Amino acid sequence: SPTVGVLALQGDVREHAAALEAAGARAVPVRRPAELAAVDGLVLPGGESTTIGKLLGVFGLEDPLREAVAAGLPVYGSCAGMILLADRVEGAADGQRTVGGMDMTVRRNAFGRQVDSFEADLEVAGVSDQDGGAPVRTVFIRAPWVEEAGPRVEVLARIPLRAVDGSPVGTGAGKIVAARQGRLLATAFHPEITGDPRVHALFVRMVAAG
Ligand code: GLN
Repeated sequence: SPTVGVLALQGDVREHAAALEAAGARAVPVRRPAELAAVDGLVLPGGESTTIGKLLGVFGLEDPLREAVAAGLPVYGSCAGMILLADRVEGAADGQRTVGGMDMTVRRNAFGRQVDSFEADLEVAGVSDQDGGAPVRTVFIRAPWVEEAGPRVEVLARIPLRAVDGSPVGTGAGKIVAARQGRLLATAFHPEITGDPRVHALFVRMVAAG
């Protein structure tokens, strides 16, 4: 089984490691360049993208990670991790650093205060059609969305009109919240906290495909 790292500087590292193991991978924490060099794929967890971006610099991982992405390392970014994978960020903090690699503009904290956090059932290409075909329960926590995506970005999911509790998601309906470009995968939501390993299984398949 492939060895998949979880960037372990900040954020919900443990939950991603558990989801990766449930999806059949061996999960290891990554904090140092040598650890990054030893993995077949990497998850960038949710958390705070400004903090994770700063810590990448502090831990000497910023350039190695950019080089690994350029060399084709499969990387999956969830929420803050999606922001880190975007080539362009709207609502970035002063001096906010990202890794980039996906030709898209991501808007931070996009859903606005009243719907900071909500859940929705989504069709996600390559995910909700697996293992019985149930929609994916998605959890959005001060989440970004994709404002604009280039032609090489494959859209995997968009936001429906209503959350599972029936409340409207406001201006978010129709926005892209899961996307793939080559070996890079990004979701605005947090599949690591729902007990459904199918998003991680998609990523493990991408890693195994090499
Ligand atoms: N709002 C956070 C950010 O901008 C992301 C939130 C999350 O990862 N749950 O980095």
